[in-house]
Amino acid sequence: MKHNFGAGPGILPHEVLKQAAAGVIDLNKIGLSILEISHRSAEFESILDEAVRLVKELLGVPEGYSVLFMQGGASTQFALAPYNLLPEGGKAAYLETGVWANKALKEAKYFGNVEIVATSKESNFTYIPKDYTIPEDAAYFHITSNNTIYGTQMQAFPKSPIPMVCDMSSDIFSRKINVADFGLIYAGAQKNMGPAGATLVIIKDDILGKSGRKIPSMFNYQTQIEGGSMYNTPPCFAIYVSMLTLNWLKSKGGVEAIEQENIAKARVLYEEIDRNPLFKPVCAVEDRSHMNVCFVMENPEHEKPFLKLCEDKGIVGIKGHRSVGGFRASIYNALPITSVYVLIDAMQEFAEKTQVAQ
Ligand SMILES: *Cc1c(COP(=O)(O)O)cnc(C)c1O
Repeated sequence: MKHNFGAGPGILPHEVLKQAAAGVIDLNKIGLSILEISHRSAEFESILDEAVRLVKELLGVPEGYSVLFMQGGASTQFALAPYNLLPEGGKAAYLETGVWANKALKEAKYFGNVEIVATSKESNFTYIPKDYTIPEDAAYFHITSNNTIYGTQMQAFPKSPIPMVCDMSSDIFSRKINVADFGLIYAGAQKNMGPAGATLVIIKDDILGKSGRKIPSMFNYQTQIEGGSMYNTPPCFAIYVSMLTLNWLKSKGGVEAIEQENIAKARVLYEEIDRNPLFKPVCAVEDRSHMNVCFVMENPEHEKPFLKLCEDKGIVGIKGHRSVGGFRASIYNALPITSVYVLIDAMQEFAEKTQVAQ
């Protein structure tokens, strides 16, 4: 078995993979595969109901919110949020904290005006801007809770006078959040919730119907809510595996318990990066992500041999994104702390070898 630090699609719990594999052959002993049953069947309806119920339970989703499973990934939500929420000629506010935030605001420009309230672009997104004012005349304020590529994470959310829209693709279910602080939350499943193909959307019902736009059915949150995520054929298998993963999370003690594990994993890894003279962190300490840990080497020539050592130890997926370089260790919910210790051992072993050679 490998130690999977990949950024996405990311690691899934081994138990979940076994259950999913069994469901592909014979779902709950009904003699049919999850891949070949009607989405209107009692079996699938109960899977979808259970997935929605688990989302509500694990995140404490209050009354007045709808939970949807959609397709098209977070990138489709970049467009659907403004399509549904931004009136013709209106304005939306965005916090630009990375490539994903930038892609989100580019889509909003197809529908109206965009105000970038703050950006950390000038520093290649190594921190989260904190000194800004949210304009009250904007339709919504869009943020990215965790910047998967740069390794920064919002450790606190602002109080917003307008509905807050949040891309939580890479840290949903990793920590406690107060859903009531948000008008719309969306997340592609493939980082921390399940396989690619399903997108989770949590929406406050009363923010809808205010844009005055005519919206085609598939792109309209209202149609999706009325259809219970089944206006058309949903991504059945991705929803099934997401449900299994959420069930696994519940059995581990839920979001509060996994948050403590995530904090512990991040702490030991950042401690090693700070301590080990060969490695250095890239992000502002107060904004360090508990999901994607980015670091580089003091001597870039060491990066290739270190990567090779990692490969030899079964560590995969830690090469950094091309826009940051170096390394990115994604330590999503399903990654055990034992894998983090394997990485730390590799860092220490590499440092010892290198110092002896010098
Ligand atoms: C991966 C990612 C995306 C893109 O998700 P898709 O489902 O591939 O569209 C968007 N935002 C964030 C924060 C991500 O990590």
